[in-house]
Amino acid sequence: MLASPSCQCYFSRMKNNKPTAMIPRPERGVLRHPAWEYGRSEHNTALNLYGPRIAPVDILLIAAMHGDENETTVVLSDALRRVPTGCIKNPVILSTNPDGALQGTRSNARGVDLNRNWPTANWSSKPVYHTAHGGTTQEISLSSGTSAGSEAETRALLECVQRLQPRTVISLHSPLACIEDPQETPLAHWIASQVGLPLVQDVGYATPGSFGTWSAEENINIITWELPSEPLADIMASHIKVLFKLITGDYESELV
Ligand SMILES: [Zn+2]
Repeated sequence: MLASPSCQCYFSRMKNNKPTAMIPRPERGVLRHPAWEYGRSEHNTALNLYGPRIAPVDILLIAAMHGDENETTVVLSDALRRVPTGCIKNPVILSTNPDGALQGTRSNARGVDLNRNWPTANWSSKPVYHTAHGGTTQEISLSSGTSAGSEAETRALLECVQRLQPRTVISLHSPLACIEDPQETPLAHWIASQVGLPLVQDVGYATPGSFGTWSAEENINIITWELPSEPLADIMASHIKVLFKLITGDYESELV
């Protein structure tokens, strides 16, 4: 198997046992990593991935499956922009639902909650209800799709995951303020301790057709990282360095 250019930085650094240096602050304004288009959204928006594409990868980091959770994209992008070119060990997708992000909706452009559209044993055609920002009850109705995997964003990400064969997928959401991992893996323990969030085995309600359920059925470890409902500056202060270590692979020396 050919090593990708992205691996060179990682292997030379591991050999020297040195952590990755962040690129200088004035240069962090622009994404300098080449993007690979893994598909197109329902509105023909490019679905982009940054980093190596040679299977298997250790971790795939993704954000914003819900288009109204753009803070997940902002935080993950900031961490990615601190990584020197060629030093991405674990690939990153900044938005798995760009049409929803552009429209400010939780759903994609066709009104489908992409986190209920996966081909799982428990996928249901029933409407999906969620809580409005600031609300207390699940009362906003969305579609789970005309069929499991009906949406372009779901199919593209599914094929991308099958291609990359990640051992773990980390999916960023908000604002439940917890790290969810049914397996309670050492990696999830490490993330929870680093960012000061509780580690839980589930979020407390049924999620038929979710990406998490599909990943579990595919024997892929899934960690759902729910950012807290805090000012963005506070979230960045506590989360970006942890995400940086996950992208570069620097976390490995800290796992117990
Ligand atoms: Zn979400």
